[in-house]
Amino acid sequence: MDSMISGGQEPARAEDRETIFARISYRLSRLYNILQENRRRVDEERRELQTLVSDISHQVKTPVANLKMVTDTLLAKPVTEQERREFLQGIRSQTDKLEFLVQSMGKASRLETGAVTLEKKDVPLLDTLAQAMSGIVYGAEQKGISVEVQCPEDLRVSHDSKWTAEALFNLLDNAVKYTPAGGKISVSVEQWEMYVKLDVTDTGKGIPESRQAAIFRRFYREEEVHDQPGVGIGLYLAREIVTRQGGYIQVASKPGRGSTFSVFLPRR
Ligand code: ADP
Repeated sequence: MDSMISGGQEPARAEDRETIFARISYRLSRLYNILQENRRRVDEERRELQTLVSDISHQVKTPVANLKMVTDTLLAKPVTEQERREFLQGIRSQTDKLEFLVQSMGKASRLETGAVTLEKKDVPLLDTLAQAMSGIVYGAEQKGISVEVQCPEDLRVSHDSKWTAEALFNLLDNAVKYTPAGGKISVSVEQWEMYVKLDVTDTGKGIPESRQAAIFRRFYREEEVHDQPGVGIGLYLAREIVTRQGGYIQVASKPGRGSTFSVFLPRR
């Protein structure tokens, strides 16, 4: 016990298993292992928290640096009306980015801490899908991307419509962002015995297999997409929302050929 208290070492085990001393020693050993496991978990949580804080500061740094640069320029010298407008638009887009970041972080944290509970109700999946689609039709049209939807009107699934619409919107929004002009997005629904499977397929840039797991990580973005708006939280949120309802998300993709994100929602 002394060596366990002072050096955090595992207590020596007694040889003879029949004596009281041996039984105490055995339990002590178990207690030691539980303590070690708890310590490991605390260390892991601390590391996660550190990564989160450094991720957030990294995300905030760029827009804040841009805002300072623009405002410094505006303060330092007189500008023409056109330049003034351009600078203000720059400020607007950077504040939009910060606002989006804060909102997404808020959503992720409310989901993680259980501050919001998803309320599953038996409602038509098409209504949820329509809600998600409404956010992307304009963007898709602007890019000349056709969108096709196949979902039975009468299919009711037990799910949280508001949050699921958010998850589906994130998938659809990505499909629009990462598909070149003239491409195609299709949404289809299949009924399985235990799950309803909803596929969002695009003809976009695709994702190499080696990075298909990473894209669901918070703040993960691929190198080549930095010219597109986004902070890398959409897929993370989508996965959280779906898994919290007992479902899961899968991706199948080939670079240059397109991607299919499949959402599996339990039927009840
Ligand atoms: P964001 O779109 O804000 O970068 P996401 O979490 O939604 O963040 O996506 C993470 C990354 O996964 C994206 O940066 C992109 O590289 C990749 N990705 C997501 N959806 C697609 C898609 N449909 N086609 C190709 N790449 C995608």
